[in-house]
Amino acid sequence: MVSADIKEGRRDEIAELARRRGFLWLAFEIYGGAAGFYDYAPLGALLKRRVETAWRTFYTKEGFYEIETTSVAPRDVFEASGHLESFTDRTVVCKHCKTFFRVDEGIDINKSCPECGGELEAAGEFNLMFQTRIGVPKGEKGGERVLDKSEGYLRPETAQGTFLNFPRLLRFNRDKLPFGVIQIGKAYRNEISPRQSLIRLREFTIAEAEIFVYPEEKNKHPRFEEVKERKLRLVPGEGAQAQEEMEKTVGEAVRSGTIANEYLGYHIAKVDEFLVGIGIPRDKLRFRQHEPDEMAHYARDCWDAEFFSDRYSWMEIVGVADRGDYDLSSHAASSNTDMGVYPQLQSQVQAEGEAEKAKAKAKIIPHVIEPSYGIDRIIYALLESSFYKEQVGKEKRKVLRFKKEMAPIRAAVFPLLNRDELKRKAKEVFQDLRNEAIFVEYDDSGSIGRRYRRQDEIGTPYCVTIDYDTLEDDTVTIRERDTMKQIRVPVSEVKEVLLKGRER
Ligand code: AMP
Repeated sequence: MVSADIKEGRRDEIAELARRRGFLWLAFEIYGGAAGFYDYAPLGALLKRRVETAWRTFYTKEGFYEIETTSVAPRDVFEASGHLESFTDRTVVCKHCKTFFRVDEGIDINKSCPECGGELEAAGEFNLMFQTRIGVPKGEKGGERVLDKSEGYLRPETAQGTFLNFPRLLRFNRDKLPFGVIQIGKAYRNEISPRQSLIRLREFTIAEAEIFVYPEEKNKHPRFEEVKERKLRLVPGEGAQAQEEMEKTVGEAVRSGTIANEYLGYHIAKVDEFLVGIGIPRDKLRFRQHEPDEMAHYARDCWDAEFFSDRYSWMEIVGVADRGDYDLSSHAASSNTDMGVYPQLQSQVQAEGEAEKAKAKAKIIPHVIEPSYGIDRIIYALLESSFYKEQVGKEKRKVLRFKKEMAPIRAAVFPLLNRDELKRKAKEVFQDLRNEAIFVEYDDSGSIGRRYRRQDEIGTPYCVTIDYDTLEDDTVTIRERDTMKQIRVPVSEVKEVLLKGRER
């Protein structure tokens, strides 16, 4: 009944569906919109929330606590972190139409302007941070700013907020390493060419874990055994095999030096586990190591989880970086704060009665391993990879095959016909499910076929239909989204089927 997928025209259809069905809307649309800003509409907001909840749950299992730090910070923070100087993109400008572009694979001085074909020339580095004012500027002298402590910036990542709190976090963790801290929130980057829907936004959601570890312990992850057999598709950056794709287990990759250490390997494996777990297809995922000249100013090593998009080809959705001691050392020096930790052998040495010797030892600045997830790009990847068009009989149906747990709506409840007695019963079933905290929708408008099609398009895994038999024997029909098979079950079992599915 279902033909092979029909892929033609799929790209624009996803954007159209996302707009029409209430996933994504252009921000400030009534004022003409602004590039790089999108609003999540009701179903998009639900989908995003599901991804964020899955992410929190996943990292909570690692024993990490979540914190929430501010998204505006004074200049000092980004001066110390290196963002003021180095969080920049190289730009070129068209001599003819004066449009600025970010230098990337497709655009450089020896290429022509993508807008008008004109000649491009170098236009320097452009800092991506949004600048703002905190309070009132102080100290004006003859119209000149003397010492302006009011200069602030919107954060381009959450990580700095975590680093600034490191001494308190260390104490909270009873002065022991390793520990991890997560944050999820908005980040702001004044991107130069923000044209590609959710891929390059100027305001986006980032979910980051900072894992603090003794430098000499990076090859001793306590749970490495659990991930070492996991197979990964890897594209190492440097060396003889540069850019050659390979499949290796995490264990092999660390043993052979492809991945620098167990901590990095463990967290790359965890990123893979999370992404596959929420429904990103395995065959569309790989990990690519940055080339040295591609790396962020703070990174010693970095692997991107890349998703293969039909539209944008391989694109980064998560970055996993070894930030070394860069951030803590910079903040320690700039703020004159102690960010050090005693060597881990301290307790042992004390036990041997050599406490003084341990104290005399210099403190160590921990290293940081950081998986950094772009939630919006993950949402895009889910939308694109879940979208199918199928021939069903004489009709084409569009369907979003989200994993059940990720679908914005778990089930829709319908009366078969628009009759009061059926509507009454359907609303009762609907309300009972809502009371059980299952996210269901009620719909009695239009033909049953149209209602099914709408739910398919928004990825609802189940439709529950109430008919005249329901009034007799208290059973309903449940139709499953992907197979379109229908089963008849007692009302009392509906909840279980919606939550756990049923093989029949
Ligand atoms: P980065 O700190 O640059 O490695 O970014 C971390 C993650 O945030 C990336 O893997 C992307 O998924 C996401 N990201 C970065 N820049 C943007 C952007 N302009 N719009 C949407 N997502 C972004």
